[in-house]
Amino acid sequence: MACLYVFVFAGLLKKVFTCRLCGKVLCSKASLKRHIADKHSERQEEYRCVICERVYCSRNSLMTHIYTYHKTRPGEVDIKFF
Ligand SMILES: [Zn+2]
Ligand SMILES: [Zn+2]
Repeated sequence: MACLYVFVFAGLLKKVFTCRLCGKVLCSKASLKRHIADKHSERQEEYRCVICERVYCSRNSLMTHIYTYHKTRPGEVDIKFF
């Protein structure tokens, strides 16, 4: 609870910018922009099949692909998200 309190208190003192993609809190809009460019570049939207390397733009399409093509239920394979 102590950590939460500090976080909330800091939020009251200063406007914070939270990354919508990973939840990281940045202290300025500029650093948030830089953070997104650094950590979440274009490739972040790719979902790659670990079995055949096919790339999909949504998690759902990848899951459907794995289920239909590899007859494996999502969760049974170690899926890496890039
Ligand atoms: Zn982020
Ligand atoms: Zn595949």
